[in-house]
Amino acid sequence: MSMQVINPASGEKIKSYQEHTADQASAIIDDVHEAWKSWKQTSFSHRAECMRKAANVLRDEKEKWGKLMTQEMGKLTKDGIAEAEKCAWVCDYYADNAEQFLQREIIETDASKSYASFQPIGIVLAVMPWNFPFWQVMRFAAPALMAGNAGILKHASNVPGCALAIEEIFQKAGFPENIFKTLLISSSEVNDVIANDKVRAVTLTGSTPAGKSVAAKAGEMLKKTVLELGGSDPYVVLADADLENAAEVCVTSRLINGGQSCISAKRFIVESAVKEQFESLVVDKMKAKKMGDPSEESTDLGPMAREDLRDELHKQVCDSVDAGAKCLTGGDIPSEGGAYYPATVLTNVKPGMPAYDEELFGPVASIIEAKDEADAIRIANDSEFGLGAAVFTKDKAKGERIAETELEAGCCFVNTFVKSDPRLPFGGIKDSGYGRELGPYGIKEFVNIKTVYVQ
Ligand code: NAP
Repeated sequence: MSMQVINPASGEKIKSYQEHTADQASAIIDDVHEAWKSWKQTSFSHRAECMRKAANVLRDEKEKWGKLMTQEMGKLTKDGIAEAEKCAWVCDYYADNAEQFLQREIIETDASKSYASFQPIGIVLAVMPWNFPFWQVMRFAAPALMAGNAGILKHASNVPGCALAIEEIFQKAGFPENIFKTLLISSSEVNDVIANDKVRAVTLTGSTPAGKSVAAKAGEMLKKTVLELGGSDPYVVLADADLENAAEVCVTSRLINGGQSCISAKRFIVESAVKEQFESLVVDKMKAKKMGDPSEESTDLGPMAREDLRDELHKQVCDSVDAGAKCLTGGDIPSEGGAYYPATVLTNVKPGMPAYDEELFGPVASIIEAKDEADAIRIANDSEFGLGAAVFTKDKAKGERIAETELEAGCCFVNTFVKSDPRLPFGGIKDSGYGRELGPYGIKEFVNIKTVYVQ
């Protein structure tokens, strides 16, 4: 079996990669396990030295990584370059902080000495998505390797070149040859990897159905999981918001990565008093975005990652319109080739429509009218997802209260869009998953919190 890479901007077949057989995958896991036995005994300073070199490789060759992302999944090259830089940041962040995050915690008891120690657990399997093909992997790999674990990556089938490039980056940085390896396998082979005794935990970033499947197998095998799943982030725009800023931020967030981001603004919930004004600002801003060649500096919106994903999104738009939503701009598949979809705005979005109930993973904004603040919060929480959320109001104290105590999500922002940051915990609740990545919490997900008691 082979993995075929198709350039989403042109539909052209670029390259095919031979998949690993079950025997090859099992031999790779054995090698990684061997490498881990020595790696877990290395010092934090040695690991940090390697991790800082990985950051340098990411930065030094960022143009190359950016172009690779464009070729495989259609990301704007300038955004791919920025993604490589952000990966370097997370490597540096954990190189600087892992030792402190994982230092012993002394706990006074009747022992002469007792404490919690954070020890490595072994191989962590990472099942990753294509949308941020470097960032999703590095935000798992940097803390995992710094904690003394080993990594095995099963990346999305449309980005095998990115998967191998990340392995290469760790090699160039001087990590042991087998401490981080890529398995080129399909999703149907993931359960066998989870079942392998040498694999001790699994992290998956991807859709909710994939998360449920991996969690079920990991549960059967009693292996810990972290799940970073889909989202349909609500952006609550209250009547007292700075509407110009709210519209600008909402459009920016909706179009990040062509709308293919788990924490992209997806549902705009607007108080009736300002709905028309907000709608017109959003439509003007969406219309002004230039769609085209992802390698051009001036392009705002490239192609989606695959044609089948574009067609799925279009069906969600059409089904929403058939159910009574109004399309204010966009909504048609362009006649030229490639997986393009225009910046689209739907309004009068109501329960029962895909634009209300489901995740729209592309450049489509759904505007939902709310009677008042309480109604807006009710609608925001009326979702199976709970990843990110934002609220816009000139009353910062009110915004903070809504963000902290009212919105059901893992990351709630006031007057700006939800973004990941190496220093802040990241993750969701409800069908958006569980566990946290990044910050001091992320590195503690895959360690043995060991009690040591000396009489
Ligand atoms: P996906 O189809 O779920 O794929 C994600 C990964 O899971 C891929 O490596 C895929 O492999 C694998 N996979 C799929 N089904 C599987 C199964 N039954 N068992 C084991 N592995 C399986 O998701 P996607 O389309 O690539 O990514 C989009 C989704 O990811 C969206 O829902 C988005 O919101 C979510 N996401 C979440 C976060 C977060 O941090 N919460 C971040 C980014 C994206 P194949 O490619 O071989 O199928």
